[in-house]
Amino acid sequence: MASSSPPAAFVCARCGACCRWHGLVRLTDAEVDAIAAHLGLSPRDFIERYTEVTPDRRGLTLRESPDGACVMLDAQGLCRIHAVKPRQCREFPWRWHVPGYEALCQAGRTP
Ligand code: SF4
Repeated sequence: MASSSPPAAFVCARCGACCRWHGLVRLTDAEVDAIAAHLGLSPRDFIERYTEVTPDRRGLTLRESPDGACVMLDAQGLCRIHAVKPRQCREFPWRWHVPGYEALCQAGRTP
C-alpha cells in the first residue's frame, strides 16, 4: 500500500477493477453493523456469510469470490454495498493506492 500523492483529478469509471484485485478489505465493528443492516442481516449472519479473519488475526476482511473478486461485487461489476462500503474502499485512490494501479484502473484523470 502506497501513500504517495493521489491523482489531481479522478473520476471513477465504475469498472470494478479495484474490487477484483487480490487483497484484504478490512472492516471495523461499525462497518460490520452498517453493512449487515444494509443487507438485512444480523451482524452475526453477515460475519458468517461474508467475512473471514485476517491473516494477522486482528480483525475481519470481506471474503473473496472464487475468481478473486470481492464477494460484494455483483454480476454487473457494481458494489452491492456501495452506500455503506468500507472506508478503505471509499478512500481509494485518494488516501492510498498500490504501485502501478493506474495500469488497471480505468478512471478518468486530468493533470
Ligand atoms: S466492498 Fe464494494 S467497493 Fe469495496 S472492494 Fe468490495 S465491491 Fe469493491
